[in-house]
Amino acid sequence: MKTVLWSRKVKVKKTVNVQSIRERFNSLKIKVDWEKIDKINKVRNDIEHYYSDHKPQDIRSIISDTFIIISVFIKQHLQQDPKKLLGDDAYSILIEVNEVYEREKKECDDAIEKLQFFHEEIISAFKAYSCEKCGSYLIMPSIDKGEAIKADFICKLCGTKLPYEEIVEPAIKSYCGYADEVDIPIADCPECGGIDVYLYNEKICSWCGLTAEHECQRCGTTILSEELQTSPLCGYCAHMMAKDD
Ligand SMILES: [Zn+2]
Ligand SMILES: [Zn+2]
Ligand SMILES: [Zn+2]
Repeated sequence: MKTVLWSRKVKVKKTVNVQSIRERFNSLKIKVDWEKIDKINKVRNDIEHYYSDHKPQDIRSIISDTFIIISVFIKQHLQQDPKKLLGDDAYSILIEVNEVYEREKKECDDAIEKLQFFHEEIISAFKAYSCEKCGSYLIMPSIDKGEAIKADFICKLCGTKLPYEEIVEPAIKSYCGYADEVDIPIADCPECGGIDVYLYNEKICSWCGLTAEHECQRCGTTILSEELQTSPLCGYCAHMMAKDD
């Protein structure tokens, strides 16, 4: 009996793995959200090996993500109706799980939107942030009004609680890094010294709220994002002034 099970297991191992799907999709130029798929795959592996310590809500958000990826894939690449292809039973369960999750996510988003942020773009970054510990997007602020910088942000799934200044940096970095959808140049802040936290086009530091001088006080040229740290001087003038000293 044991031998039979073992040989089955070996067979299973030989099925298409995530890496080969990734390669195949790339060659077919099919775009999917790999970050989400990697998270889904991790949970799936844990469950398969019977050591999942994920909470029901956690699994729900994963199923919800899976549902979205599958639906988009079926519609976009197979040009079929997901409801028909998956069957009514499976489809209705997926819809239900998805709705519960969407409701919880909306509660978090609404709570975040009630706070005052330095800029709209920072709100978007917070809403797109997922917990670095468990991957959940359900992040709830500790206060229901007032300044966001005074709030803590709590992951509804794993309970990780971080103050504004600790969450803003990874949130801005990952938000501005999604090059495909959003391309937001970020710079180092000349005031608080924060690395990659200054939203260059929006002219605001997401850490300290500073609006830096974007025009060099010595030569009048525009200070580029990569030299913003020397503001109110451009990189060249800052270098020349340092030489004179
Ligand atoms: Zn978490
Ligand atoms: Zn700053
Ligand atoms: Zn200059």
